[in-house]
Amino acid sequence: MAGSLDDFASGKLAALEAVALRRRLIETDRREGVRATRNGRELISFCCNDYLNLSQHPEVKRAAIAATEKYGVGAGASRLVSGNHPLFAELERRLAEWKEAEDCVVFGSGYMANLGIVPALVGAGDLILADELSHACLMSGAKLSGAEFAIFRHNDLVHLDALLAARRGTAKHCLILTDGIFSMDGDAAPVAELAARAAHHDAWLMTDDAHGIGVVGRDGRGSSFMGAEKAAVPLQMGTLSKAVGSYGGYLCASRAVCDLIRTRARTLIYSTGLPPGAVAASIAALDFIRANPDYCRRPVEKARGFARALGLPAPESPIVPLILGDAEATLVASALLEAEGFLVTGIRPPTVPAGTARLRFTFTAEHDDADIARLVALVRERIIPRKAAE
Ligand code: PMP
Repeated sequence: MAGSLDDFASGKLAALEAVALRRRLIETDRREGVRATRNGRELISFCCNDYLNLSQHPEVKRAAIAATEKYGVGAGASRLVSGNHPLFAELERRLAEWKEAEDCVVFGSGYMANLGIVPALVGAGDLILADELSHACLMSGAKLSGAEFAIFRHNDLVHLDALLAARRGTAKHCLILTDGIFSMDGDAAPVAELAARAAHHDAWLMTDDAHGIGVVGRDGRGSSFMGAEKAAVPLQMGTLSKAVGSYGGYLCASRAVCDLIRTRARTLIYSTGLPPGAVAASIAALDFIRANPDYCRRPVEKARGFARALGLPAPESPIVPLILGDAEATLVASALLEAEGFLVTGIRPPTVPAGTARLRFTFTAEHDDADIARLVALVRERIIPRKAAE
């Protein structure tokens, strides 16, 4: 039987290789600042989600080390058994307060949060409406839930209205899912408008703010805080693995919702709690973020400077996509930048829709303006002309 299994795997890999869609893990040694070593070469990384460079911050590291010394390297059990070490309550209290929610639940990762939250809230007889560019883990949570599932065109409120008018009536509950900041395009969802529609139709809005927390909205509070007033989003989900620099996922919501999630979300109940070091690092990183609002604005400012220099639309987040279309062309462009000392991973389907393979540049607080200027020149002289020639 092993023969047919290996034949299956090799055949699949060959088919993916033929269309430039095979993926490979490449050892990447990230240390101080924005530098990463690959294949013995030091590169400047423009493809890391560590937007505030807090994964390397001395205070954050110190907090992780101290917690590890005190509580050990692992939680030892699911949070509901005996893994709920004292740092969880501290982190959840801070996140809830910061997001102006009653309560918060911390999960093992952002991916696990979405896989746990969505099926705990909706199921058979309910309806999920999701933006077509929502992150893969929101989509997976939706599939797991067993609820009816429909997709609305990206940020298209008219399409959402039509779906709500046609389908909300027959569903018991309705959950609307969207990224707050879209992971591969960097644009923001119209969160306030979505919240208003959701309230009007008695639907529940859930935003995934993985790329918003720490870098957008009032003092880095995320996509619910981008307007003059906080948008009324009852389910604010996010991750601690990007601007917060650590690991873990969270949901900020009402006390009743959080209590239900603690009782029903399978990825919380049946998975070991986060290591104390990771939770302590998140606490220290949040303290840093709250004390340094100007620093938190830097990633978006740097992204804007880069986009402006290339005549690209002004980004709302630290993410700037340059869509090349073809997967092969994207790999070639990425290799060209790497040869010049820049790490910018090519993003290909199925991470992005077919025909929209791209370079995805991400900016961090510590990027040097001179390095950005060099990158702009390379993209302008070597990548954009190739794109135009296709
Ligand atoms: N949501 C979005 C929008 C993301 O980009 C990611 C990470 N790629 C996740 C969720 C998953 O978060 P985590 O890495 O903490 O599992």
